Amino acid sequence: MPVTDNAAAGGCMCGAVRYEITGEPSRVLHCHCQSCRSHTGAPMATLAVFGAEQVIFSGDDRKNYQSAPGVNRAFCANCGTSLTWETVFGDEGPLCAIHISSFDNPDALTPDAHSFYPERISWFDVADNLPRHEGFVAGSEPLQYGPAKQKPTD
Ligand SMILES: [Zn+2]
Ligand SMILES: [Zn+2]
Repeated sequence: MPVTDNAAAGGCMCGAVRYEITGEPSRVLHCHCQSCRSHTGAPMATLAVFGAEQVIFSGDDRKNYQSAPGVNRAFCANCGTSLTWETVFGDEGPLCAIHISSFDNPDALTPDAHSFYPERISWFDVADNLPRHEGFVAGSEPLQYGPAKQKPTD
């Protein structure tokens, strides 16, 4: 059950882990990296990026898996829902990026970029005109806008 009626709240599938957000995300991105894909089992992960101090967790402790030095990926130990990508370092300070489909109202958060676009599954793309970045979005120029050109199917 939601702790409050905060529109930017969410949690895992079973409800054991909940979170509430203060303020707006710095960005909402589609991430194509191998690590996000492995953590979710999906062809792409969509994450809303917040400062760690903007996110308050409640209920059961989330379980962390350290996927790289200084990077944790959290999930519910009970139901397995992928919840976050979290850093303890970086130019922007500690971050807590939350998987979009764990929000109670994911429609309220609109993606604005793609990260790690060259790592995507070759048959997968999205029909939007958002900027596609080679790696992290912060501090980088996009490789292109819009999906990769389709090959003729003859
Ligand atoms: Zn759960
Ligand atoms: Zn990623």
